[in-house]
Amino acid sequence: MVRMQKLNKHFGSLHVLNNIDLDIVPGEVVVIIGASGSGKSTLIRCINGLEEFQSGTLSVDGNILKPDGKSSKALQTIRTEVGMVFQQFNLFPHLSVIDNITLAPMKVRGWRRDDALATARRLLERVGIADQADKYPGQLSGGQQQRVALARALAMEPRLMLFDEPTSALDPEMIGEVLDAMRELAKEGMTMVIVTHEMGFAREVADRIIFIHKGEIAEQGTPEALFSAPQNDHTRSFLARVL
Ligand code: ADP
Ligand code: MG
Repeated sequence: MVRMQKLNKHFGSLHVLNNIDLDIVPGEVVVIIGASGSGKSTLIRCINGLEEFQSGTLSVDGNILKPDGKSSKALQTIRTEVGMVFQQFNLFPHLSVIDNITLAPMKVRGWRRDDALATARRLLERVGIADQADKYPGQLSGGQQQRVALARALAMEPRLMLFDEPTSALDPEMIGEVLDAMRELAKEGMTMVIVTHEMGFAREVADRIIFIHKGEIAEQGTPEALFSAPQNDHTRSFLARVL
């Protein structure tokens, strides 16, 4: 689903991603951990073309993204096939919940309104907020807004889902409801790349954990291997701080 080879990303003189090699197979759930500023967000933003990179190769479901953004057609395809959920929900505040969800399927995929509405209702049911369809984002709790954001991403029938700290902006009592929805999605076989500090959740859902240190993959492995027997000094000290 994702093949990244020797990918390098700079912000000016800052070398943010250093020779990243990363293959993700269909159905795999990959959790990315690492200290603040290590490059986690930049890495997943490269996967859906939100960030350009300067060298290396990247292909997402067979669509090849080239360095410096020179691949507009592939970029368009990737944007429709890859869903993303951000820390700050990013819902359209002036649209109702249901309109937030139907907008892209109608505009980008050209679905009829009836079909988009039926799909949106089914997705709201699935994330447990069918009764909130006609409200506006500002009228919902953070946990509900994030579940709308998830439903909105799923409405595009993505082949791959990216999550960038989806529960970091939530009050503690709402984290569980969002993680539950993500857990369901993982069970259904969705390919997922998740940046999170929820180590219990990571341990439970991840097929593989990747630890990033200063823009490099310092260590990766199964949750069991990485949490129980980390090999790298930086992984060890990071885990000692967060576990
Ligand atoms: P993480 O998600 O692991 O906290 P980021 O990927 O957001 O890390 O950032 C990695 C590094 O790149 C940090 O040093 C950050 O300050 C820098 N950075 C991120 N975005 C930008 C940007 N748009 N312009 C300049 N530097 C950036
Ligand atoms: Mg980040």
